Amino acid sequence: MKENLNQEILDLRIFENPINPIDLIKSITSSDLNVENDPFYIVDLEDICNKHINWITKLPRVEPHYAVKCNTDSIILKLLAFLGAGFDCASKNEIQTILDLGVAPHRIIFANPCKQASFIKYANKVGVNLMTFDNENELYKIKQHHPNAKCVLRIITDDKDAICRFSMKFGADMDSSLKLIELAYKLNLDLCGVSFHVGSGQMSPEAFSESIQNARKLFDYAREKFDIRMHLLDLGGGFPGSSDSNDLFDLISRQINKSLDQFFPAEEFENLNSLNDEECKLKIIAEPGRYYACSAFTLCVNIIAKRVMNQSEQQKSQDGHDLEQKFLQPNPHPSLTIQTANKTRCIESVSCIDQNKSIMYYINDGVYASFNCLFYDHSECFPILLKDNVDDAVFYKSSIWGPTCDGLDLVCKEIYVPELETNEFMVFKDMGAYTISGAVAFNGIPLPKSIYTVSTSWKTIEAAFSNNLEEMIPFANNTSCHASAGIKFPKSLNETSEACK
Ligand code: PLP
Repeated sequence: MKENLNQEILDLRIFENPINPIDLIKSITSSDLNVENDPFYIVDLEDICNKHINWITKLPRVEPHYAVKCNTDSIILKLLAFLGAGFDCASKNEIQTILDLGVAPHRIIFANPCKQASFIKYANKVGVNLMTFDNENELYKIKQHHPNAKCVLRIITDDKDAICRFSMKFGADMDSSLKLIELAYKLNLDLCGVSFHVGSGQMSPEAFSESIQNARKLFDYAREKFDIRMHLLDLGGGFPGSSDSNDLFDLISRQINKSLDQFFPAEEFENLNSLNDEECKLKIIAEPGRYYACSAFTLCVNIIAKRVMNQSEQQKSQDGHDLEQKFLQPNPHPSLTIQTANKTRCIESVSCIDQNKSIMYYINDGVYASFNCLFYDHSECFPILLKDNVDDAVFYKSSIWGPTCDGLDLVCKEIYVPELETNEFMVFKDMGAYTISGAVAFNGIPLPKSIYTVSTSWKTIEAAFSNNLEEMIPFANNTSCHASAGIKFPKSLNETSEACK
């Protein structure tokens, strides 16, 4: 990992003011620098810094542990390490990746309730002690391979309002939780807390409150029945991260703060636990993935081919669609809006739709690569067109397909757009969560590269964190992460990516 990172040449672009990724994409695609027309990501590092500042402002009692699985981009991992976040790792590889960045093992939670035994042994060897479990068998495995682990009981949640639900696979119900607490006691394991995950893309703030309340019941049970003083509450992931989700995040964070004050009042826990024992002070963490990664990544793809179909050809193609229906997600409904770089319009306001022909576009990224989120993250992805001048254009029913030879490689089943040409680019925003981390180069098609951007306010953020680190991030007590995170800050605006090789 380290070696690869050192070899990697970072394409970092620094701007005087925060830049709109679409403006940058326009200037890149209109220059002759991208001669191959390869797909690429614009990664806005400042967006991640701003998300972090937003988090610590709105959820001051909750220490974020970034869920590495969401997007394993090495630069954003370094950045988050630098900012003082902890990490939620799901496997040996993820733990190794984070330790290789110089992050201390105590900033990692091994948050996979059903782990391979050899991964538990590895965690023991490298000093990663915090790990989740939700069943008896896992407790016996932990006892055998990491007897000094700090065990966190993952409980089931009501995740019906989430985009991706997990409760059918993970989490102990309240009855089983009582039994697991007793077993942990009998095995003399260090049961240190409770965790949950309300489902990824959770739309209901109340889901968090209910689980926080259940966690409190289990804290009380463990204390009253076995004198076990649990001191870790892990709120999991499920926080929204798209560019239009600020309001929902605000609602969720207000609800969480209210529930924490009600069920885990700071003062009460100060008194309950021995003040001399730092280890036993109440600590509240969460495992946000999507929140940090989603809006920072904008994907630009190229139209590599196109097929124009008349009405009879359209019918034939529709029959093919119907055959594949069982494999596809619930019908991605046709986009009724058209987005261009500068405006979004309702399709009803477009006067000219020609139903006599439809167009299939083939782009150089698809469901085996970035758009695997259509399957695994239940996303719907609609493009933004780079051309602005579409007011008088004729619109056609269109579909967008990935570059592989597989018929399932369908990115967008039905949209209405003006006719586009081969070699034109289109853009998909909010593409940072559960996209590139699940991508493979199927059919030998290379994955998109990343271009990272920051602006001068980067300097402000740098100054803020280095001058007043403890105040800004109360839990980032290990300031050595500055050096170990390996991010080199540009000294001046003129300094190019050379600085970050
Ligand atoms: N924690 C665990 C255990 C998860 O399984 C996941 C997602 O799969 C996350 C955190 C991150 O969830 P989100 O991206 O919704 O924040």
